[in-house]
Amino acid sequence: MGYIKVAHREMLRQIDNYSSLPKGWDKFVDKQAEYHNLVIKSKKNQCYCTNCKNTFISKNKVNQEIKCPNCHNKYLIKRSNLRHYEFKDYLSILDKVNDTFIVRYFELKTTIDALHEHHSSVVEFAREIPNNNWHRDVFVNERVSKCQGCIHIYHGDSNYFYPVKWREYTRNYSLIDYSIVFPNNIKKLLKNTIYQYSCIWDIAKHCTYIDLPKFISNKHDIGKTELLAKMKLYNLALRADEFRNKGSFQEIFGVSKDYYPFMKKNNITYLQLKLLRLLKEKDIKKIKYLQHFVSYGDSISDLEEISNYISLSRFIKYAKMHHKKVKTYLYKDYLRFAKMLGLDLKNNRYAFPKNLREEHDKLEKQYEIQSKVLVQKAIKKRSKELSIYKYKNNKFIILPAPNLKALQDESKQQNNCVRTYAEKYADGTCDIYFMRDIQNPKKSLVTVEVKNNKVVQSRIKNNNDPNEKQLKFLDRWENTILKGAA
Ligand SMILES: [Zn+2]
Repeated sequence: MGYIKVAHREMLRQIDNYSSLPKGWDKFVDKQAEYHNLVIKSKKNQCYCTNCKNTFISKNKVNQEIKCPNCHNKYLIKRSNLRHYEFKDYLSILDKVNDTFIVRYFELKTTIDALHEHHSSVVEFAREIPNNNWHRDVFVNERVSKCQGCIHIYHGDSNYFYPVKWREYTRNYSLIDYSIVFPNNIKKLLKNTIYQYSCIWDIAKHCTYIDLPKFISNKHDIGKTELLAKMKLYNLALRADEFRNKGSFQEIFGVSKDYYPFMKKNNITYLQLKLLRLLKEKDIKKIKYLQHFVSYGDSISDLEEISNYISLSRFIKYAKMHHKKVKTYLYKDYLRFAKMLGLDLKNNRYAFPKNLREEHDKLEKQYEIQSKVLVQKAIKKRSKELSIYKYKNNKFIILPAPNLKALQDESKQQNNCVRTYAEKYADGTCDIYFMRDIQNPKKSLVTVEVKNNKVVQSRIKNNNDPNEKQLKFLDRWENTILKGAA
C-alpha cells in the first residue's frame, strides 16, 4: 500500500466525512447513462430501443448506428440474440478542501442483459490532487483491483467499503486521463481564485473528454483558455497551450478570419483546425473524413506532404475510390516521385494510381536511376524562382543555393548536413539559402533554411548559431523581403 502524506490523507478524510455530492449530479449521471443504450433488431426489421422501450421498423444493419424515432437518440444496432453488453464511462467532479482542489473520479457502468434490460451504476474509485509535478497525486479506494493486467472497479454494496480506505496509485492513468466533467459546480468553486474568469465551466459543458487536473494546474495558459472559451471555441480552449496570445486571427489560428463562424459552429478540435489549414474548405464532412488518415496523436505530416502535391479534396476523392484503404505513407512518396519524374499530377491518370504499391515501386526504381539528374535540374529551377529574394547590404549578401554541387560544397565547408536537404529543396518542401560576407562571397558563412517564407534554421560552421550581427541581417531580410512575398 502506497504511503499518503498526512495533509493529503486529512483532505481525503474530510471529503469522506462531510462532503455530499453536488446538486444536479444525479441528473448529470442519468443523462450520461442515457447514451448507454442499444437498438435491438429482431426478425422482419423489428427494432427495439432499450432507452425508451419503443419499437419501430428499420432496414439499417446490425452494428450501424440509428436514430430512434421516439427518443431521437442515436444508438448502435445489435442482434436480438445478444446476451450481454457493457458500457463504461469515467465521470469527474471538481471538489475543494480548504483551498486545495481535488478531482473525484467515478465509473459509470451500464449492462444490457439478455432480456435487453438496462442496469446502470456509478461509483467513486479515485481522487487526484492536481499539481505541477511529473508525479501525479492519485489515490484509489478498495473498489479498485487488478485482474489480468486490467483495472477492475467493483460496483457492489458501498457499506462493505466503509470507512473508505485510500491508497496511493502510481501505475496506469489511462482510465482517468480524460473524463466527462460535471460542469455545474465549477464556477462557484473557482470564485476568488486565479481561475475565476477562466470559463472552464463552459468548456466542461461543451467538450466531452477533458483532462481536468491539467487544466486546474496549468496557471500559465489560463488567459488564453479564457479567450478561446469566450470565442466559443471550446475544444480549442482545451489546447490553449498550442496558441500564441498575440497577433491577428490569421497569425493565431493559421486561417483567415472568415473561417471563424465555421470553427465556432462546429466547435472544432485542434486536430480539425490543423486539417482545416490544409484543406482550406469550410466542409466539416471532409475534415472528419480526413481524420481517418491521421496516424496517431495529432500527427498529420503525411497529409501535409500530400497537400504539397495535390489538394486534399482530390485526395479524399482518391481515398473514396479505394474505400479509405490508401496508405498515406506510400502515397506521399508516390506523389513525390511522380512530381520529380515530371508526371502531370493535375491528371487523375497519374494522381490516382489504381494499384498504389505497384506504381509506387515502379516510380521509385525510375526515380533512383534518374534522381541525381532530376534533383540537379529541379534545384536549378528552384534557385531561379527564388532569386527574387536575393538581398544584400554593405556587409552581407544572401542568395538561394544555386545547384547540387554548391549544396555539397556548403555542407563540406560548414561541416553540416545541408546536402541531405537537396531533395526537399528540389521538390519545394523547403528553401535553402547561403548567407555570405560581401567581401568574400565564395566562403560559407551562414546556411539558412526557409519554410513558408519564414527562417526556420540558420547555422554557421559545425551547426552553431550565428552571431547577433548576422541574425539582425537575417531578421531584416525576413521582415522586408520574405514577408512582402507571403
Ligand atoms: Zn428510443
